Amino acid sequence: MEQFLEAIRSGASGEQIAALPLPDTYRAAYVLRDEVDLFEGVASEDKDPRTSIHIGEVAVPELAPDEAYIAVMASSINFNTVWTSIFEPLPTFGFLDRLGKESAWGARHALPYHVVGSDAAGVVLRTGSAVRNWKPGDRVTVHCNYVDDQDPSSHDDSMLGANQRIWGFETNFGGLADLAVVKANQLMPKPAHLSWEEAAVNALCNSTSYRMLVSRNGAAMQQGDRVLVWGASGGLGAFAVQYVLNGGGVPVGVVSSQQKVDLLHDLGVEAVIDRKVAGYRFWSDEHTQDEKEWRRLGKDIRALVGDDVDIVFEHPGRQTMGASVFAAKRGGTIVTCAATSGYMIEYDNRHLWMKLKTIKGSHFANYREAWDANQLVCEGKILPPLSAVHTLDDVGEAAYQVHHNLHEGKIGVLCLAPEEGEGITDPELRARVGEDRITLFRRHGA
Ligand code: NDP
Repeated sequence: MEQFLEAIRSGASGEQIAALPLPDTYRAAYVLRDEVDLFEGVASEDKDPRTSIHIGEVAVPELAPDEAYIAVMASSINFNTVWTSIFEPLPTFGFLDRLGKESAWGARHALPYHVVGSDAAGVVLRTGSAVRNWKPGDRVTVHCNYVDDQDPSSHDDSMLGANQRIWGFETNFGGLADLAVVKANQLMPKPAHLSWEEAAVNALCNSTSYRMLVSRNGAAMQQGDRVLVWGASGGLGAFAVQYVLNGGGVPVGVVSSQQKVDLLHDLGVEAVIDRKVAGYRFWSDEHTQDEKEWRRLGKDIRALVGDDVDIVFEHPGRQTMGASVFAAKRGGTIVTCAATSGYMIEYDNRHLWMKLKTIKGSHFANYREAWDANQLVCEGKILPPLSAVHTLDDVGEAAYQVHHNLHEGKIGVLCLAPEEGEGITDPELRARVGEDRITLFRRHGA
């Protein structure tokens, strides 16, 4: 891949890049099928991605006609890589085996190793014979919606496709590597004013938050809406609060440290709750929730923004869902895409039906939503919440940081890019958006 790196850094043309030979193998971060029992009997929090994620050479797979090889300049850590690396709730090899049974091309994915990673920014190296809109040399970001376009169920909202998958989690050949295999309909233009690592941290969380809040498939936020955002400086939350601010809403961010409170204030979020200081105990024991504590949260929200919230942006799951359903206003929406703290949820249904609230499930985003969300990044209207950068060799440590909630925003990973700060081709736009704003999370994370 060294030749590709040199060509990309020296501004080689698409034709020159297309003429370079592909290697037989590439460097990748992967977990191993024969290690899925590695953590048997170990508590979740002690399962260590640094042990289960390996870095090494794997074979370059054949390219299907609707796919492209990407030289991955940078990638990012998403929570799904944490799930894969601790083999929870299930080892991801089951997903690969199912894909393997679908078609001859799908069979490539069922391997003894799983190359992880669901974000990437890089350069197209080759395209399959059926690819029309992209060519070698194109600078791209990659969204992770892996769609079977020959399945009729994919053709209204592709997230409703019966066999919709997340690339790098439910497929092999993901983005935490020097090379990735993606479908052409995962490609989007790279934001020209961002470095590789700044461009690589957005697609997954940005698109998810866009669908949850902005899209009519999600909560369809209106101007003036008050929105409670859990984990408001985390991967999803850092985008969610930006969407609320951009859309004329009022975010109420919840975080767990003064440092994160300060970060959100600097981002323009005025109403912030430090849940550690507030000391909410929504669960008085493992089986019992405490309505008094839900009421205390509601009171704190009203004290900050004058009313109950129209929308709750949910993802912590079991620990917070009871409080979230309670805190939403009459007629409000709780939009949820995850359950980090446990997926068996309990809430008081009386608060839901008597106050005509809606719980809305959401999952990643269709191509249109991902594209529109990426466009907002390209225009400098959504900022990349990059707070730290690791090398590909250090992915285990980066995943460990996310597993233990030791990070803010997003952690970027340098793959082929040898150092930070490369890949910016529109410095004028960067100056207009503002270096200080683009690097806000990085400066806080430093
Ligand atoms: P991060 O770890 O970056 O952020 C999550 C934040 O949630 C943390 O910063 C933390 O903030 C907060 N949090 C964690 N545990 C609790 C808790 N018990 N109570 C309240 N707040 C809590 O992760 P992401 O934002 O990237 O992802 C969050 C979840 O969403 C993950 O489970 C992930 O797998 C899922 N996800 C789902 C997607 C989908 O398409 N369905 C897409 C992306 C992510 P603080 O400590 O500051 O309060």
